[in-house]
Amino acid sequence: MSKNTKIVENGGDPRESALNDLFADYTSDGITVLDLPSKGKFYKDFQGIEISPLTYLDEQHILGSREANIDIVSKLLEKSIVGIEVGDLLSMDKIFLLMKVREASYGDNYEFKVTCPNCSTDVTTDLILSKHLNMVTVPDSIEDPRTITLPKLNVEAEIRFPRSKEESFLKDTESIYQNAYRFVLSIAGNKDPIFISKAIKRLHIMDVKKLVSEIVSSEYGVDPRFIFECPECKHEETMSIPLDINFFSVS
Ligand SMILES: [Zn+2]
Repeated sequence: MSKNTKIVENGGDPRESALNDLFADYTSDGITVLDLPSKGKFYKDFQGIEISPLTYLDEQHILGSREANIDIVSKLLEKSIVGIEVGDLLSMDKIFLLMKVREASYGDNYEFKVTCPNCSTDVTTDLILSKHLNMVTVPDSIEDPRTITLPKLNVEAEIRFPRSKEESFLKDTESIYQNAYRFVLSIAGNKDPIFISKAIKRLHIMDVKKLVSEIVSSEYGVDPRFIFECPECKHEETMSIPLDINFFSVS
């Protein structure tokens, strides 16, 4: 009878072991993020998020998608983060995590071009993302869902934070208004979505503004604004950093 032995794993190809030797001491620059703008309060069993740097192929993918109408940002996050479903992310955390992916991939310094609004000079400028941008975390007391009071009607509304997968409902002021009912769980105790949707259409403008600003909650998260000072004309202006495709490449 023949005697059969198990094939030794990786034993066959000397290249594999040479490659393993080459990268043995190499640590990929992945980072663990715990301090999200939302503090991870609204994610089930939140244990932090692992972020891995982009690979060369990821970068080529992003640059290649310049023309395509796909949500490259979500795709990118799906590849780069572990610890949470991208679709469940709050918007405030999503932008923060994008910055962390960039930091893990290219470092904390972001160089980009700005056109001075005063003298039209093209200026190359740079920012240290973690130092020059402000981040506002949610207060410990905040809940999801939470109750707010509509100032004019003087009744309570129960609302929840939108998630990343619902961003298409929030792309401009018109669609935020049309879709606000999706994020309102009750008005004056009534939970019927059709009632809620009709009630929103009859609300006073002040109540609508209150409702929308609470749903969008743009006061939390990374504030992409910085103060630009033109080296040519010394003009100062508050600007937002461009979070476009160039944010994910070093060119
Ligand atoms: Zn200028």
